Amino acid sequence: MQMLLEGLGLDMEDKHFQKTPERAAKSWSEEICAGLGEKKFRLTTFPTSENYEPSMVVLQHIPVKSVCAHHLLPFIGEATVAYIPNKMLCGISKLSRIVDYFSRRPQVQEELTSDIANFLRENLDPQGVGVIIKATHMCMAMRGVSHDGVMTTSSLKGSFLNESNVRAEFMALANTESLVKL
Ligand SMILES: [Zn+2]
Repeated sequence: MQMLLEGLGLDMEDKHFQKTPERAAKSWSEEICAGLGEKKFRLTTFPTSENYEPSMVVLQHIPVKSVCAHHLLPFIGEATVAYIPNKMLCGISKLSRIVDYFSRRPQVQEELTSDIANFLRENLDPQGVGVIIKATHMCMAMRGVSHDGVMTTSSLKGSFLNESNVRAEFMALANTESLVKL
């Protein structure tokens, strides 16, 4: 961090920069990349009742805040996460927690999307899983082409991939109006 700032020719004696290397290192290790240090958590699950007929469980507008692996610049947006249970449910807030856990590390959006879907598939053994992420990338907006743009990635497993009616229901839900302006 110090080398980067010095390389840019900044005055490290300036009061605004004096503590910046330590401050930035702390926020990178303890917050922005906190997911790297955390142990992969075990999802608490609940068995479904005998008479429950599984249908789609969807959580929309989950905030996504991550940094890209290629430029270490933020990408910010929203995720929709859904599954159709088999014999297990998880607490709805856990869907948000999973997105947060996998977001807190440098990566590419495509792999973040599939990491979330794979984690749910491994831990819930559901009939199917769908994850959609829409995000704007600062590495595109602040450099290179310097345009905003929303990148959409999806990861579909099981019935979300194989059954057209399930896929259509999920896509319709994932495309409802966002509360957050991207
Ligand atoms: Zn990038």
